[in-house]
Amino acid sequence: MGKVLVIGCGGVASVAIHKICQNDSVFDELCIASRTVSKCDKLKEKLQNTTKTKITTAQVNADKVEELVKLIKEVKPDVVLNLALPYQDLTIMDACLETGVHYVDTANYEPEDTAKFEYKWQWAYRERYEKAGITALLGSGFDPGVTGVFSAYALKHYFDEINYIDILDCNAGDHGYPFATNFNPEINIREVSAKGSYWENGHWVETEPMEIKRVYNFPEVGEKDMYLLHHEELESLALNMPGIKRIRFFMTFGQSYLTHLKCLENVGMTSIEPIMYEGREIVPLQFLKAVLPDPSTLGPRTKGKTNIGCIFIGKKDGKERKIYIYNVCDHEECYKEVGSQAVAYTTGVPAMIGAMLVMQGKWQKAGVHNIEEFDPDPFMEALNKWGLPWKVSENPDLVE
Ligand code: NDP
Repeated sequence: MGKVLVIGCGGVASVAIHKICQNDSVFDELCIASRTVSKCDKLKEKLQNTTKTKITTAQVNADKVEELVKLIKEVKPDVVLNLALPYQDLTIMDACLETGVHYVDTANYEPEDTAKFEYKWQWAYRERYEKAGITALLGSGFDPGVTGVFSAYALKHYFDEINYIDILDCNAGDHGYPFATNFNPEINIREVSAKGSYWENGHWVETEPMEIKRVYNFPEVGEKDMYLLHHEELESLALNMPGIKRIRFFMTFGQSYLTHLKCLENVGMTSIEPIMYEGREIVPLQFLKAVLPDPSTLGPRTKGKTNIGCIFIGKKDGKERKIYIYNVCDHEECYKEVGSQAVAYTTGVPAMIGAMLVMQGKWQKAGVHNIEEFDPDPFMEALNKWGLPWKVSENPDLVE
């Protein structure tokens, strides 16, 4: 039993909070704290009569370490689950350090003025977390998150050595809008309009955005176009998977999404450089976010499935082996269960599981760690139990 403090109350947090409340024999207390406290109160109202978990709410500006420290001291959680934006990772990590509380997140730090996500800022806390005797679990969403757990599981149970990993993220959902993003538009567009890259033979190979396209026939979904992107788990897996030669990440995009994105890029709407507009400084991408559909409203309109997983090629007992571990999730079923579409669901469920394992002490290890550094077995078991069952396919189709 224990208490979790969730920071942020957007799409992903809403799912994690539903799951925390379903898991009330483990989480007996939950505090939801965010910038807009009315969103926290609304969720508390919806859930409090469905669960034994005692729910409180609070207002916090997570850019301010002093506010966070004050809140953590008042709430006294066993673990802080950061589901705000990547910009708040370091302030929340600072506050956890000052108060001696474990930290979990789903996305690595990104400075607001450079669209470049890297682990170096968070890995710089390693020694301080070790000395403080607390755990920071980084990247407990789906990708990063479950993809790292799948990698650790494959290495533990199927391979002596993994040489190639292809992470395939397919969203075959249709929300009926010509253009909308499935999670925070600002973060999403920064990710997909950046240069691509993959890791090969000890170094990074950079590509132009969307330069490398492949077609893949996804189990239970069908054939989709997918594009190579840089993604944050490539950086930690390159370090933590012994014998690795290449890791790539592919995401599916439909033609309408790509055409709209190109057009928005061409007119300057995806830029993060501030401009003056009617005497006021605005960031075009932030303005675009304000006019796009809010991802949390996509739930009731989205139909179809996601399929996210990893293809591993490596060696077992001297012979080559290939397996594919993946999860298929249905947008409409997610909406029925927790009122959100599958992209938020596939992130919120692992966020709850990561917080649970750290809180229970099963995954405590003083320092700052990526998810593949922990024993994957309890996480894999929890995925089956909490709504993201996975499958292992031997001899899958490979990506050229
Ligand atoms: P949303 O924009 O829906 O939610 C973000 C929440 O954080 C909002 O409630 C927002 O408050 C709150 N917030 C933002 N800034 C502050 C602040 N300064 N102080 C306090 N609260 C703040 O985002 P998502 O739910 O889509 O994404 C949440 C996180 O999950 C992101 O870091 C994203 O990158 C990550 N993610 C990870 C994935 C994975 O697989 N690993 C996949 C998808 C997302 P307000 O309501 O006032 O705006």
